[in-house]
Amino acid sequence: MTLAIWLDGSLREADSARVSVLDHGLTVGDGVFETVKAVDGQAFALTRHLHRLAGSARGLGLPEPDLDEVRRACAAVLEAGPVPLGRLRITYTGGVSPLGSDRGTAGPTLVVALVETERRPDTTAVITVPWTRNERGALAGLKTTSYGENVVALARARERGASEALFANTLGRLCEGTGSNVFVVLDGELHTPPLASGCLAGITRQLVLDWVGAKETDLPFDVLERAEEIFLTSTTRDVQALHRLDERPLPGAPGPVTARAMRIFAERAADDLDP
Ligand code: PLP
Repeated sequence: MTLAIWLDGSLREADSARVSVLDHGLTVGDGVFETVKAVDGQAFALTRHLHRLAGSARGLGLPEPDLDEVRRACAAVLEAGPVPLGRLRITYTGGVSPLGSDRGTAGPTLVVALVETERRPDTTAVITVPWTRNERGALAGLKTTSYGENVVALARARERGASEALFANTLGRLCEGTGSNVFVVLDGELHTPPLASGCLAGITRQLVLDWVGAKETDLPFDVLERAEEIFLTSTTRDVQALHRLDERPLPGAPGPVTARAMRIFAERAADDLDP
């Protein structure tokens, strides 16, 4: 349930907040977004999310977002709808623009919405998909609202009883999931694809690199067939182990390396809200 919404300068009732049907974010996906974890009314790693939002906006050629305003908006919705665990969705788009024209001059649209969420299970099932991430595309590494490809891949995962789908890039290298980064254990060592694979610079990924330690390694996609352990990282999953990949069970998940990463991440994240 959506608990509170900030739209263009003020708090609104969730069912009366309206964005124009001519918003460029809606008509052509000209927008960027962030999903931020909210714990006991506080945003986790907000500074990192705001920097990434600004970077994505720059990459898309949107006007620089006013990060103080975004921070105020987050604080306002958190205050309006305190929940033990939630998700702030920050959306920033090109704004209203006549159909068929380029981005309008009316100024960008900013929406911050708070939804309540539940803790994800420690393990999950994941599939691989035949579609590729374009590591050389204009949108590589940007968190834009053009998420159609992820929506299709996630629907395929759900049809197969899984919660996430993993992509290779156009070079056949391991890349990421629809909304998560991926880590694999090979010969007891932890690896994750480098940003050059085209994956998003996940905030959870970076915290695991900093706190737990892992090698950034360019890996063939079929490394998934022989990895001893595999886990996902994301704002909504934290560190989540795979117990099945396609038809391959991964018994005993979370394995020792993953369990350690989970423990360290949980401890450090509880210690520091804005690492
Ligand atoms: N990759 C993609 C495509 C994503 O959309 C996300 C998060 O939404 C991630 C990775 C994980 O990033 P983060 O840890 O910042 O949530």
